[in-house]
Amino acid sequence: IWNNCLNIIKDNIPAQSFKTWFEPIKAIRQEGSVLTIQVPSLFFYEWLEEHYVGLLRKTIKNQLGEEGRLEYNIVMEQSSAKPFTTNMPSNGNGSEGKNQSMPIPVSINKDIKNPFVIPGLRKLQVDPQLNQNYTFETFIEGDCNRLARSAGYAVAAKPGGTSFNPLMIYGGVGLGKTHLAQAIGNEIKQSFPEKLVLYVSCEKFTTQFVESLKNNNINDFVNFYQAMDVLIVDDVHNFAGRDKTQDIFFHIFNHLHQSGKQIILTSDKSPKDLSGLEERLLSRFKWGLSADLQIPDMETRMAILKKKIYQDGIELPQEVIEYVAHNIDNNVRELEGAMVSLLAQSTLNKKEIDLALARQMLKNFIKNSSKEISMESIQKLVCEYFEVPVEMVKSSTRKREIVQARQISMYLSKAHTKSSLKTIGQFFGGRDHSTVIYACQTVEDLIDTDKKFKTYVADIQKKLKMN
Ligand code: ADP
Ligand code: MG
Repeated sequence: IWNNCLNIIKDNIPAQSFKTWFEPIKAIRQEGSVLTIQVPSLFFYEWLEEHYVGLLRKTIKNQLGEEGRLEYNIVMEQSSAKPFTTNMPSNGNGSEGKNQSMPIPVSINKDIKNPFVIPGLRKLQVDPQLNQNYTFETFIEGDCNRLARSAGYAVAAKPGGTSFNPLMIYGGVGLGKTHLAQAIGNEIKQSFPEKLVLYVSCEKFTTQFVESLKNNNINDFVNFYQAMDVLIVDDVHNFAGRDKTQDIFFHIFNHLHQSGKQIILTSDKSPKDLSGLEERLLSRFKWGLSADLQIPDMETRMAILKKKIYQDGIELPQEVIEYVAHNIDNNVRELEGAMVSLLAQSTLNKKEIDLALARQMLKNFIKNSSKEISMESIQKLVCEYFEVPVEMVKSSTRKREIVQARQISMYLSKAHTKSSLKTIGQFFGGRDHSTVIYACQTVEDLIDTDKKFKTYVADIQKKLKMN
């Protein structure tokens, strides 16, 4: 009978799902209209009930009649978590350096020395995959991160025991999400060494999941994650569009949450602004506390630089620190990068770092840190490109090359600045807004019809962005 059922089910779901969820099932017995099947774990049972209850019901009725019923026999594992090992390289951006390409090493401790461990219950050990340098001590506090930091601290003191579950840390790139999330993990490991803590990037989680589907050990995958006391998942916005992974994560999330385990998430947006994620997952993310990391103010940037310099055992004039902190103002990672390259240059050239040197060396850095594009810079660039005098585009001349430079300048100003048509017309020689519209149209037409012209404009645009 079960084989007949399987045949029906096979025709109704994708081959991969069948392989994953139905092949591991064993039929145990049939008594009257009750069929008993054995599933490998509680998780399997829950998953079948969540996803295939309708199909199973129909199939059973088809085979056993209206009275037909299905009973589950769940194999209870001695230890709920078996070691789950993968050999995927870690691509999380957190464990820079040493941990980078290690598999998750999991070992079973067979010699039980601890008398409090119940005999027969095996103890799972997990490398938390944390970067030791990312601690609270090295995470500078400022207005930009005060709430997130103190929430993190509270969570670290009482994992799973606060209402901050999950704790969601969100903010732009390079603002310290990974650092703070790992600091919480490290702090918990310090205070509660016996707790199972695991840091994983969303990317790595996804790869492991896909791999476990391929290898048919999804059960181990889920049991492993569900055995954690503290689970840190970095960059959950990357779950977007990955429906199956979200599905399994939803399951794991619920399990951990129900058992009072701590979940820590990071994301580039707040839960209400995240897109591409299932609503039910987002609503879970909103259960706990969401705290954002903002761009640090000048004072905090200075403090971060000073800390870094101090750690490296180097001295720098105050004015240099101020200069760097003042000019690199949107991203802590860039701030550190600039400092590192500054120090490297000075060591290489055996020069003292003074303000002049810093200025010279940071030119590239500062240029790249997205300055706003102005009409002046457009005008200058276009004129340089076509080798026409800069003042001419503002004049009334109708010389062909000047008209072209003027029109392209107007077109680029409309595309790359926030200026209104009126302002653009004003700027380029007191012309009115219909002239600007006409210029934009002309340029657009030429881009469509004239290949050479199109390359010119593309070239200029490229330069504009590098400026
Ligand atoms: P994100 O994960 O948000 O992209 P990271 O956590 O990787 O950012 O941080 C980028 C770099 O900036 C890291 O080297 C981190 O140590 C550093 N950093 C960020 N915020 C702070 C802070 N408040 N204090 C000290 N270092 C910080
Ligand atoms: Mg990060």
